[in-house]
Amino acid sequence: MNRASHYDVAIIGAGMSGLAAGIRLAHFGRRVCIFERHYAPGGLNSFYSIDGRKYDVGLHAVTNYVPRGVKGTPLGRLLRQLRIERDEFDLCPQKQSRVVFGPRGGIELRFTNDRTVLETEIASKFPAQIDGFRRLLGALGSYDDTATEAPAMSARAVLRRYISDQLLEDMIFCPLMYYGSAQEQDMDFVQFGVMFRSIFLEGLARPHEGVRRIIRVLLEKYRAAGGERRMKCGVARIIEREGRAAALVLDDGGEITATHVLSSIGAEETMALCGPQAAAHPPAAAGDAPRRLSFIESIRVLKSPPADLGWGDDTIVFFNDSGRFEYTRPAGPVDPRSGVICFPNNFDFQDGGPPEGLLRITCLANYDRWAGLPEERYRAEKQHWLDETTRSARRFLPPVADETLVAATLATDLFTPRTILRFTGHREGAVYGAPHKIRDGHTHLSNLYLCGTDQGLLGIVGSMLSGISMANAHMLRPGADV
Ligand SMILES: Cc1cc2nc3c(=O)[nH]c(=O)nc-3n(C[C@H](O)[C@H](O)[C@H](O)COP(=O)(O)OP(=O)(O)OC[C@H]3O[C@@H](n4cnc5c(N)ncnc54)[C@H](O)[C@@H]3O)c2cc1C
Repeated sequence: MNRASHYDVAIIGAGMSGLAAGIRLAHFGRRVCIFERHYAPGGLNSFYSIDGRKYDVGLHAVTNYVPRGVKGTPLGRLLRQLRIERDEFDLCPQKQSRVVFGPRGGIELRFTNDRTVLETEIASKFPAQIDGFRRLLGALGSYDDTATEAPAMSARAVLRRYISDQLLEDMIFCPLMYYGSAQEQDMDFVQFGVMFRSIFLEGLARPHEGVRRIIRVLLEKYRAAGGERRMKCGVARIIEREGRAAALVLDDGGEITATHVLSSIGAEETMALCGPQAAAHPPAAAGDAPRRLSFIESIRVLKSPPADLGWGDDTIVFFNDSGRFEYTRPAGPVDPRSGVICFPNNFDFQDGGPPEGLLRITCLANYDRWAGLPEERYRAEKQHWLDETTRSARRFLPPVADETLVAATLATDLFTPRTILRFTGHREGAVYGAPHKIRDGHTHLSNLYLCGTDQGLLGIVGSMLSGISMANAHMLRPGADV
């Protein structure tokens, strides 16, 4: 064996899950290398620059925020396992968020990082449902959402044991789906529980500097622990021999070997590296071809914080204008009827926050309707949907005159399912990956495992916990090959 090109663990992808797994393994003295195809780390949660201004790719908010001193939470577990001090992420809590439904926002539920706010809102706006909601809180408290063998259950079916009002059901599902469902219209109950806790029972926060802060901390920890990283160097092929990943062929033609391989790029995407004969493990059920979901996101840079325009203190607004909330792949390029508005200025920053304002709007999009567009048409569609989603979202915000908004705007950008595919390689720009998750991380090869998006835990905190848990379960457990 050539020691120079042999690793204890090779990790495919320097997104949040790959970086977290790398830190954990390097802390335990494993010789580990992360191979990343892109020039920047962070994956779906990276950042980019246009005209000298830095934009976050994905970050609205870090979920699972709890105040200092609260024990036994995912954030605490994550920080402990990665040996990160809480202050290093510089997390500032949200101000307030809303779920608002109806053509003109006729009904809304406010929530903050204080879980009693949502409970009080439901008691006042859905008085007949509050007892059921409280019973749901009790049930979620006793459910083990870390169990990788938990049977699949429809979250809607479970929720209906507690809540009988269709509107309230949809209003509860809307934020949870937008922030963490790869499945159309329903979620697995385990995923529902994870998302419910992370948004409604724990809460939302953001580093002052945005995602760059988190990535910098992760890279420093990884480097300090002795981890290696090769950027702009993807894995082109996995060579199989006797049921094992025997070697990785890199984009530059080089070859390396590893005792274990941990892939964060998605299940099908990983299988594609193994060649056409490789099948997902376990195989998807016959006739089961669920559709992948993607988003567009518009970003508007404002001369001053949005509150100066009269848009108030909302951090996140989840909106829907229709009788039912449709979380499906739209027939057209974009479904502007529902979406997420994020004002990254509206977190409790100690210094008042950045001087420029930001408005981000996310809506469901159909990859197929964007994929083949010629360049000129693509640019025109981007402008059209930027205007259209802004128009739709503004119905749920205090009114601001068109001329005022135009005069206040410094720059705009919009990314599409095509951008997501380019940044991350996720098929069809599927932000949350394949609808079917492989919770134990196993593949058809005995030393190849999945972490991140298709293992099942989503979002920044979820994906980092996924990397940690897969490293613990498969590479650091007693008896694992070293
Ligand atoms: C628009 C948007 C908004 C979001 N907002 C939030 C939010 O507010 N809060 C939140 O918690 N989460 C948010 N998320 C979700 C969150 O970003 C993801 O769930 C999480 O970052 C996924 O991390 P990951 O490591 O599993 O995968 P990824 O980030 O996809 O990382 C995989 C990496 O693998 C690399 N790669 C792919 N193929 C190869 C190859 N063959 N060889 C080498 N490298 C390869 C990719 O370039 C990528 O860097 C958002 C995502 C998007 C897109």
